[in-house]
Amino acid sequence: MQDIRIELTQNPTHLPEDESTLGFGKRFSDHMFVMDYTVEKGWFDPRIVPYAPISLYPSTMCFHYGQTTFEGLKAYRTEKNEILLFRPQQNFKRLNISDDRLCIPKLDEEFCLEALKKLIQIDEKFVPHSKGTSLYIRPFIIATEPQLGANSSTQYKFIIITSPSGVYYSSGLNPVKIYVEDNYVRAVRGGMGMAKTGGNYAVSLKSQVNAHNNDYSQVLWLDGVERKYIEEVGAMNIFFVIGDEVVTPEINGSILDGITRKSMVELLKKEGKKVSERRISIQEVEDAYENGELKEVFGTGTAAVISPVGVLKYKDKVMTINDNKIGEISKHLYDTLTGIQRGEIEDKFGWTV
Ligand code: PMP
Repeated sequence: MQDIRIELTQNPTHLPEDESTLGFGKRFSDHMFVMDYTVEKGWFDPRIVPYAPISLYPSTMCFHYGQTTFEGLKAYRTEKNEILLFRPQQNFKRLNISDDRLCIPKLDEEFCLEALKKLIQIDEKFVPHSKGTSLYIRPFIIATEPQLGANSSTQYKFIIITSPSGVYYSSGLNPVKIYVEDNYVRAVRGGMGMAKTGGNYAVSLKSQVNAHNNDYSQVLWLDGVERKYIEEVGAMNIFFVIGDEVVTPEINGSILDGITRKSMVELLKKEGKKVSERRISIQEVEDAYENGELKEVFGTGTAAVISPVGVLKYKDKVMTINDNKIGEISKHLYDTLTGIQRGEIEDKFGWTV
C-alpha cells in the first residue's frame, strides 16, 4: 500500500459548542484526503492536507461534461467515545461501480478505507457528540484534464472531505410529503441512474423545486419509459408496506443500489418478515391505498436514515398514509439502524467498522 503523506493545518478550527447549530453539509473539518491520477502514473501522491480551495483551469473537463462520481457515508460517535463507520466498504465498492459507468479509473477499495480511517483519526474532534449528529463523509472524483474535447479525461482527482452535521430533517423523525413526478424523468435503463454522479442530481432539480413550491419535500420518480413503475425518491430508496408484505423496487439499473435499502432488506428478512424486491407500479400503490392495504411508506438513505412518508401525491390524488403518523415498521427500522450505528444495539450483521 502507498504511504499517505500528511500535512497538518496551521489554523485549527473547532466544532461549535452548540451542536444544534451544525445543519447539514455546511461546515467542513480541518483536513481532506487527496490523490491524483494520470495515465502514466495511475493513482499517485495520496495525501492528507488542510481543507482548502483547489486550483483548476476553466477548461478542466469536470466543469463541462460532468465526468464526476461521489459517495456519501457517515461516522458516528458512540457513548463509549468510539467512532463507527457504517458499511464503508460498500460505499467504495459502489464508487467503483459508478466509476466504471463513467469511464473513471478504479480505486483500490481497501486503500480508500485505510485513507478514510486515517483522515477521521486526524479530524476526530469533528465527529459531533449529540444524538442524531454525525460526521458526514463525501468521497468524490473529478475529471481534471484541462481540455475541451468531449472525451474521457486522462487525469483525475480523488478527494475525501468530511462535514460535521446535525440531524438531516430539523423536525426530527416526522412523516414527509412526497410528490410523485409524472412529467419529468430521472433515469432510464441503460443510462446512469445506478451511478452516483452529479448529472443524476442536476436532472432532478427542476422537479425538486416544483415539489418544494407546492410544499412537498421530495419527488418520487417513476420509470423513464412508461412512467408506471416506481423507482426511488430524490436521495432515498422507497419501501411500501402492503398488507403483510414489505415491497421495495428491485435493483434494475436505473435506481441507486442504496446501502441503507440493502441493510433494511437484510434486517427484515432476518426477522422473518415478508420482504420483496420487485417491480411495483404506482397503480398498485393506489389500489392498495383504496382498499386499505397500504399500511406504511418510508424512504431509506444515509442522510435521512429512515424517513416515514405521510403524504403521497400522484396527479390529482393525495394519499394520506397511516394517518400521517410514524408507522410501526418505520419506527422499528429507525431505532434498530440508529442503535447499531451508534453502538447501542449489538451489531449481529458485522456492519460497523
Ligand atoms: N437513491 C439516491 C438517488 C441517493 O442519492 C441515495 C443517497 N445516497 C439513496 C438512494 C440512498 O442510498 P444510501 O442508502 O446508500 O445512502
